[in-house]
Amino acid sequence: MNIREIRAKNILSKSQIYDYALNPYVGCQHACVYCYAKFMKRFTGHKEPWGKFVDVKINAQELLECEVKKKKVGRVWISGVCDPYQPLERKYMITRRCLGLLAEADWPFTIQTKSPLVLRDLELIKRSKDAEVCFTITTTDERIRKIFEPGAPPSAKRTEALARLRSEGIRTLAMIAPILLGAEGLIDGLQGKVDQIIVDRLNYHYADWAYRKYGLEWAMEDGFFRNKADELKAAFEEEGIPCKIVF
Ligand code: SF4
Repeated sequence: MNIREIRAKNILSKSQIYDYALNPYVGCQHACVYCYAKFMKRFTGHKEPWGKFVDVKINAQELLECEVKKKKVGRVWISGVCDPYQPLERKYMITRRCLGLLAEADWPFTIQTKSPLVLRDLELIKRSKDAEVCFTITTTDERIRKIFEPGAPPSAKRTEALARLRSEGIRTLAMIAPILLGAEGLIDGLQGKVDQIIVDRLNYHYADWAYRKYGLEWAMEDGFFRNKADELKAAFEEEGIPCKIVF
């Protein structure tokens, strides 16, 4: 693993999903084979395989301190790319420090992660007037999870973390994206744990090799994604959980 400490020029970037995106890390130890953030390799000069390098923005906190004073208040997405609670966050605590600043400045934020490490910062998140946590969860089949998300925590740990966050009064979301084999297990797995669900298909070709290697090509067809998305939406809405398909 090539870990490099870098000094970024700015930390709040414009986002098409929320007002701002804040990315404390470039690169991600979760190493998902379908990860769309791999495009960052082109812009950062990294030659290592995805999941084998991380640049740590060690000046994120000082940049954020200045930027929250100068910029218009808006919702911050942590992170748009590269998991803010990947294992290195345990040591560096960059995400934690940025959350503390946002909570203090009364800026709303949405955390996007696959890791229950977010629970470490529970008290801090609760201090915010408007925080929400979105977990990406794609399957309950651990065999599939290990193929496609080899460095990420097991799905059961993610649903447990969602349950805890919600029981503490935090708004929770689950993003089932991309829909993988075994996604239907989430119909039971997410009951009572989330306020909203978002479903998306696989849009990127990075994962083709894995589907071919394991003879799963049929699970990357348009029909598979459409049928599975419709099944998930119908089942969640029957249980009173709003579910949005975004493809
Ligand atoms: S957790 Fe997200 S950013 Fe990290 S490798 Fe997986 S898809 Fe990419």
